[in-house]
Amino acid sequence: MIVMKFGGTSVQDAAAMERVIEIVRSRRERQPVVVLSALAGTTDALQRCAEEAHRGREREALQLLEDGIVVRHREVVEGLLQDPMQRRLLLDSLEKHFQEVRMLLRGLAILGELTPRSLDTVLAYGERLSTLIATAAMQERGLPACWLDARELLVTDEQFTQATPLPAESAERVEKYLKPLLRDGAKIPVTQGFVGATPDGRTTTLGRGGSDYSAAILGALLDAEEIEIWTDVDGVMTADPRVVPEARTIRELSYTEAAELSYFGAKVLHPKTIRPAIERGIPLRILNTFNPEAPGTRIVRESAREPRTVKAITAIKDLSLINVEGRGMLGVPGVAARVFTAVARERINVLMISQSSSEQSICFIVEATAAEGALRALREAFERELEKRLIDRISAQDDVAIVAVVGAGMRGTPGIGAKVFRALGEAQINVISIAQGSSEHNLSLVVARGDADEAVRAIHKEFRLEEPYDTNDPAGAARTGRRGPGARTTDSANP
Ligand code: ASP
Ligand code: MG
Repeated sequence: MIVMKFGGTSVQDAAAMERVIEIVRSRRERQPVVVLSALAGTTDALQRCAEEAHRGREREALQLLEDGIVVRHREVVEGLLQDPMQRRLLLDSLEKHFQEVRMLLRGLAILGELTPRSLDTVLAYGERLSTLIATAAMQERGLPACWLDARELLVTDEQFTQATPLPAESAERVEKYLKPLLRDGAKIPVTQGFVGATPDGRTTTLGRGGSDYSAAILGALLDAEEIEIWTDVDGVMTADPRVVPEARTIRELSYTEAAELSYFGAKVLHPKTIRPAIERGIPLRILNTFNPEAPGTRIVRESAREPRTVKAITAIKDLSLINVEGRGMLGVPGVAARVFTAVARERINVLMISQSSSEQSICFIVEATAAEGALRALREAFERELEKRLIDRISAQDDVAIVAVVGAGMRGTPGIGAKVFRALGEAQINVISIAQGSSEHNLSLVVARGDADEAVRAIHKEFRLEEPYDTNDPAGAARTGRRGPGARTTDSANP
C-alpha cells in the first residue's frame, strides 16, 4: 500500500480536488491511504478567527469565518458534487461543523482567553472540512472512499499546537481502525493530516505544515511501500528557479541530502516530519498535483540513481557573522564552549561555525535579527577577558549569506572545493568564511548578501546542474550502466 498526502493548494478549490480524485484513482491498484491538508489558507483563516474572538471581537471573528471559510467550502461543494441529494447531505454535515466553530469562537470571546488547547480544537476543523468534501466527491465518482477521524488514529502527547505522535498507541489504533479497511482491499481511507488527539481524546495538532508528519507516521505504521507528498511544484530543484532560471528538478535525493537542503532553507520536507519514514527506510516522493505526469523527486535511504557529486545549491540570506577574536584564546580550552553556551542561553540558533586553526578567532553565523542579542550575551560572558585584552574584539558583520553546496557524492571526491572556489573566483566573489560538515554532504560558504545570487548561479553553472545528469555526467552514465544517449530507461530518464 502507499500513503498519498495532498497539501493545501492541491485541495484549494473544486478543480484542484477533481485532480486529486483522478490522481488517487490512478493509484487504485496500490491501495492508497489518503491524507489531506485543509484548503489552502484555511488554517491561517481559522487562526485569525480564534485571535479575533480571543480579543473579544466576536462579531469580527464570526464574519471572518463566514467570508473566509463558510462561503468558500460551500462553493467547493457546489462545484464538485452533482447529485442534489448527496450535495444536501454534505452541506448539512459541513453546516454542523461550522456551527460548532461558531460556538467555539463565541466561547473564546466570552472567556477572553485562547489556550494552545482551544486553538488546536479550532484549527483542526480545516482538515475535517476538506476530508469530508473529498470523501463525498470520491464516492460520487465511484471510488470506495471511507472517511476516518484522525483523532482516533493518531495518538499524541499533550503538547498542544506542537504535539508529537505516540507510536505504540497510534500503532494500536491503526491496527484496529485502518488496517481492516485495507485488508478487504475494498476501501480507500481518507483522513486528516496535521490532526491528532491525546490518549483521552482531546484534539491536538502537530504544528504548522504538520500534514507531512501525519503522512510519514501513517506510512511508517503501515509499513507503506512509498509515501507520496503531492504539492504544487515538480519536486526539489537544483536551485531556486527565481535565481537560476535553468534550475532542474532533482530526480533522487538521499534522506541526508534532503535534510541538508531543508536546513539550508530549501523548501523540502522538514527532517523532523519525515523521521518516521527515514527510520523505516520508506521512500518518499514529492509530486505535483498540477503536473502529475512529472516524475517528481524521490527521497530514499541511499541515492544511487542520480550519482552526481553536487546536487543542489541553496542560499540563506539575512544573516550576520559574529566574530570573537583575540590572541588570548590561543590554546585556552573551553572558550568555544563558553561562546556557544552564552549564545544558546539566549535561545539563538547557530547556523554555521568556523574556527581558524591558529585559534585566534571563532566565527559563527546567526540570523540577522539575533545578532544584537548574541553580541550582548558574548560581551557579558567575556567581560573579564575583554578587560584583560585576552579577547580583543567581539563584533558582527551584517548582510551576509550562506551558500550551501549539497550532495552526498561530494564525500571523498577530491576537487569539489577547488571547483567551487574557481567558479567564485571567476565571478569575482569574495568568500568570507567556509565550513564543511564532517558528513561531507555539504560545503557552506559565507558571502556578502549582495553576492549570494551570483554565487549560486556561478556554482550551478560550474557543476553543470542545468544539464540532465544521465547524458552529460560520464560518471553518472557509467554507474547507471548507460551505453549511449539512446539507452534511456524510465528509471533514469529525465523529466
Ligand atoms: N493545514 C495545516 C497548515 O496549514 C497543516 C498542513 O497543511 O500541513 O499548517
Ligand atoms: Mg497548509
